[in-house]
Amino acid sequence: MTRHHAVLGIGFGPANLALAIALEEEGYNLEAHFLEARPGPSWQSAMMLPGSDIQNHPVRDLVTLRNPRSRYSFINYLFENGRLLDHLNLPMEFPLRKEYAQYVSWVAGHFNRLVDYGVHVTGVDVDRDAEGRPLYTVTTSAGQTHQARALVIGTGRTPYIPEPFDAVNSPRVFHLTRYLPALQQLEELGGAGERGRSPRAVTVIGGSQSAVELTLDLAHRYPRARVTTLVRSLTLRLKDTSPFSEEGYFPDFTDYYYRASRERKNVLDAYMRLTNYSSADGDVLRELYRLIYEQRLDGDQKVFVSGSRQVREVEVLEEGVRLGVEELNTGEYEEHESDFVVLATGFRDVGPAAHQERVPALMTGIADAFAFDNHGYLSVGPDYEAQPLSADQPALFLNGLCESSHGIGDAGSFSLLSLRAKTIAESLRKRLL
Ligand SMILES: Cc1cc2nc3c(=O)[nH]c(=O)nc-3n(C[C@H](O)[C@H](O)[C@H](O)COP(=O)(O)OP(=O)(O)OC[C@H]3O[C@@H](n4cnc5c(N)ncnc54)[C@H](O)[C@@H]3O)c2cc1C
Repeated sequence: MTRHHAVLGIGFGPANLALAIALEEEGYNLEAHFLEARPGPSWQSAMMLPGSDIQNHPVRDLVTLRNPRSRYSFINYLFENGRLLDHLNLPMEFPLRKEYAQYVSWVAGHFNRLVDYGVHVTGVDVDRDAEGRPLYTVTTSAGQTHQARALVIGTGRTPYIPEPFDAVNSPRVFHLTRYLPALQQLEELGGAGERGRSPRAVTVIGGSQSAVELTLDLAHRYPRARVTTLVRSLTLRLKDTSPFSEEGYFPDFTDYYYRASRERKNVLDAYMRLTNYSSADGDVLRELYRLIYEQRLDGDQKVFVSGSRQVREVEVLEEGVRLGVEELNTGEYEEHESDFVVLATGFRDVGPAAHQERVPALMTGIADAFAFDNHGYLSVGPDYEAQPLSADQPALFLNGLCESSHGIGDAGSFSLLSLRAKTIAESLRKRLL
């Protein structure tokens, strides 16, 4: 049976959840439905590490920049759940990630009627209805078909698995987006190490906020294991938290970036990079440095940060993983053996380079129906609509996938998603009503 919708959203993470709220609160009478692969509401559950905090200002939530009077703000969530005063008294700069995840799930729960959970979209096609009007046909892993006059892809970015890990298929090598389930899987297989014992050695690849959080989590989770973090740059760096740089997460910067040439976009990206990538907050860096110092003081160092390291080879052994690693400045070669390797290697943006993806995965089969600029980037309108080659094509919006056209504010974060949702909602209204 085929189900028909005006708007079909694929994915129901924060981006499309913010859109569902905007459509409701802005009073647009558009029928919208969403398909979500996860079994129920959640947010980044594979990385729900004890004690970890969020990276965005909590008031830059699903709604507030667009509608500060919304019922679905983080502050109102705390209020309705009887924790506002306790939360305001919390001696933390940023809320716990688990509390923010509960907020996201609480809001998502109000929109259950619009969402099919546990449904993985496998294909998207351009089609026509009985009257010859263009629409999208979407197929799912359960064999269902949905048709819609407009599509909003809000699937989050694809994990980036660099060489040589991209050729490995083993439960012992996994991206951070699978961290907690992967540890559980290893334990079920007979322990994260051999036969139920604690692992002897584990390796984290990367120098991001997540890499540092993972290093700390592994050090606490497996206090007897040797934890090695391999970083390609010289060592771990502090995030750029200058309030001036933070204006990169303002809507004015999004417009400014959008209008810049590709050459100038590259310059702006290089400047903004340390506000979000290959760098970590001071609190976790200080905690990690202190931990290593104390271990040295005790003559029992277990945690190591090795910079200027590039993994050249990976071999999965029966009970572990062997890495061949180059020291980039001296050319020396090392071997590391671990029970498992966690890849904190980031995500792929939309773009033509090897570390990017030409179009979001679900657009692969219909990519030829869309325009690309002369640098090879998918052309996306200021309203996040992928630009079709034919005027007769139904609308397709990218929600949360437009860093290469809209800049750092679109790097998958909460910072601007309420305003982006409004932009997309307005365009949907113009296109469909
Ligand atoms: C560990 C971690 C911590 C983070 N912390 C912060 C933070 O503190 N602050 C911040 O601003 N940002 C943070 N981020 C960035 C994060 O991208 C955003 O917070 C937010 O999750 C982006 O929302 P989204 O809806 O675009 O993507 P996602 O949250 O990734 O949601 C996409 C949804 O689409 C679903 N989906 C994907 N493919 C399909 C398919 N084919 N069919 C059906 N459903 C599909 C997925 O199951 C998922 O639920 C963090 C990211 C990570 C990985």
